[in-house]
Amino acid sequence: MQGKIEIVTGPMFSGKSAELLVASRNLANENLRVGLYQSVQNTRDDGIKSRNGDCLPAVKIKSLREIASDEHDAIIIDELHFFSDVASEVKWLQKTRQIGKVVVAGVLDYDFSGKEMPIYSAIRQIGPDTERKLTARCDEIADCVMPAEYSARLLNGQQLLEGPRILVDGVKATYSPRCKDHYLPITQLISEAV
Ligand SMILES: [Zn+2]
Repeated sequence: MQGKIEIVTGPMFSGKSAELLVASRNLANENLRVGLYQSVQNTRDDGIKSRNGDCLPAVKIKSLREIASDEHDAIIIDELHFFSDVASEVKWLQKTRQIGKVVVAGVLDYDFSGKEMPIYSAIRQIGPDTERKLTARCDEIADCVMPAEYSARLLNGQQLLEGPRILVDGVKATYSPRCKDHYLPITQLISEAV
């Protein structure tokens, strides 16, 4: 089989996990042996879950190297940005594609401060076979019709631009999908330039 790396990207709440569930079922319908994985860092979800409640069980791992590639034809990875050892994980992706496996991974493209996630940049460099960019609905004002490409981090309603890239348990920040016009750093840049 021809190996492939397919990525599904976009901000939070854009339906990346739902896409992975669709991909997983389609691959299983082709009689491929499909393995589903997610990071142990993802303490929010137990399995790959879409916002509408659809869910498939996934094996929790610390590193992609723990995946038993021999047992699968296709490997689905949820929230790839939770894996922090970028060089090692991307090497695994390349190797796994070379040995003829299909890898479908969901990954956040930009963090809350608008910077590209390092693992996303690294995958772009090795060249994914397909990349699907999803958008969410902008959450800033009820009638905004612009597609949201960014994920804003909020604490008590105020947008935060600093702090660790990945927050795990114990932090009360929330996230909100925002369009370009309603995403703070871009707005600030524009007002500074005027
Ligand atoms: Zn908006």
